[in-house]
Amino acid sequence: MKKLALHWKILIGMIVGILFGLGMTTIDGGATFVANWINPFGTIFVKLLKLIAIPLILASLVKGISDLKDISKFKNIGLKTISIYIGTTVIAISIGLLMVNIVKPGNGISEETISKLTETYANSGDVQSKLAEASKQKGSGPLQFLVDIVPDNALKAMVDNSAMLQVIFFTIFLGISMLLIGEKRAKPLKDFFDSLNEVVLKMVDIIMLSAPFAVFALLANVVVSSDDPDLLVALLKYAGTVVVGLILMISCYILLISIFTKMNPFWFLKQLSPAQLLAFSTSSSAATLPVTMERVEEHIGVDKEVSSFVLPVGATINMDGTSLYQAVAAVFIAQALSFDLTFADQLTIILTALLASIGSAAVPGAGMVMLVIVLESIGFPADKLAIGLALIFAVDRPLDMCRTVVNVTGDATVSVLVAKSVGKLHDPKPKNWDDNLDEI
Ligand code: ASP
Repeated sequence: MKKLALHWKILIGMIVGILFGLGMTTIDGGATFVANWINPFGTIFVKLLKLIAIPLILASLVKGISDLKDISKFKNIGLKTISIYIGTTVIAISIGLLMVNIVKPGNGISEETISKLTETYANSGDVQSKLAEASKQKGSGPLQFLVDIVPDNALKAMVDNSAMLQVIFFTIFLGISMLLIGEKRAKPLKDFFDSLNEVVLKMVDIIMLSAPFAVFALLANVVVSSDDPDLLVALLKYAGTVVVGLILMISCYILLISIFTKMNPFWFLKQLSPAQLLAFSTSSSAATLPVTMERVEEHIGVDKEVSSFVLPVGATINMDGTSLYQAVAAVFIAQALSFDLTFADQLTIILTALLASIGSAAVPGAGMVMLVIVLESIGFPADKLAIGLALIFAVDRPLDMCRTVVNVTGDATVSVLVAKSVGKLHDPKPKNWDDNLDEI
């Protein structure tokens, strides 16, 4: 077992978890057993990853910026990152729109299925809470997102896990100021952050020792808490459209990597795979971030100067999988409820899905909240929003798992592209995950 590569161990954990979950659904009280005695271990794992995300962003971004020695380089990396992120998101939304207009998954759905889904989910607490969250997000001015990026209390931003962009803002500010006071005077602080960075990366190693067991717990719980299989089958065409779109998006990454770098894209995917498997199991790019950073830096060879900025920013604002899903879901709902969409409406979807994916939190189910805003932008009647969400709710969790894989892969791809363009892509220095861990 020790010699087996990490991604195989995680994959085995996932498969055993799914089989175990399926077995437990056939036993009376099995689902409660999994929820009470198995799932907590998955939750602890996700909490551990989130626990180290903020210290890791802080340490690694300060190190990244203060290693630059020159602010203009940072401006260059920043501009490239944001432009490529916007570019890949627009590609993702266009793929989604293309797929949903070709397949038209909403047209074939029967009245009976629509009323069954509506009955089951429209008034459920889950759908209602998504609507409530969405209405909280609206109602602010167009520049509110800029106001939100600036924290008024750095420590509070670090305490609040949802304020990742605020932490990034503060850290960049700190790193740039360290550059400006000069290497000698900033040295004590830089040494502190360098050391913190090493320590946090070691914490990632330690946490990852439990990954195969944690994904077992997470997936067993997903299986026992999944919905009525009949409803899943009724939504197969819609779910298939999203999944094929996501696969096309991964093919775009493969293409971009082969065109713009000399890297073998399949080698890239293999190196990234532990992060992708965790993204699938946790449905959270924020929880996966520490592992994504570890894989991209140590196993793919992207310099910290690039990855420490590109990845945390990407985890918060670049969600290609989510935006592709939002485009498909919005048009699917419109098709199913016979709400006519003009070409201008589809263009509006591109714009709002782009903004919505930037605004989506990197946590499970966040994409569905922002979908409400996409639907409203095309004039979808407010009284039908609950029915719209009810139509897609049954398959949201599995699709969330898949779109999170694409979100994480997109961030990693952009970090490779940016690193290549600024000469910061090196030969990786792979490290054995179990190095120095024998004493634990
Ligand atoms: N779960 C996704 C993520 O964390 C966001 C979403 O699409 O719901 O990347």
